[in-house]
Amino acid sequence: MPDFTAHRHPALAVPCPDCHRAPGLWCRTPHGQMRNHLHRARQAEADRQFIEAHGPDAIIFHDGAGWSINPRGRAGMRMQRESAAARFTALSMPNIKQS
Ligand SMILES: [Zn+2]
Repeated sequence: MPDFTAHRHPALAVPCPDCHRAPGLWCRTPHGQMRNHLHRARQAEADRQFIEAHGPDAIIFHDGAGWSINPRGRAGMRMQRESAAARFTALSMPNIKQS
């Protein structure tokens, strides 16, 4: 199971289906430049695996020291379902150095 709390962004837990970067490594452009954002396909794949591992009500959040998972974080929220990738695209990325 991918460890979504181990990296500076949770979606780094899975390899990128788009640019094929390994887990833990940031996405790159075809020219080898660091991208500002992770590929959408990677965020969607991370979301899929996150739900598989932790359930559809789980959320992941940054508590200042690191990422934490609350398996029942969405239990009270019965509004519209977010799109598959929204859980990860909406995450802030604290203290990320793009170097
Ligand atoms: Zn990528």
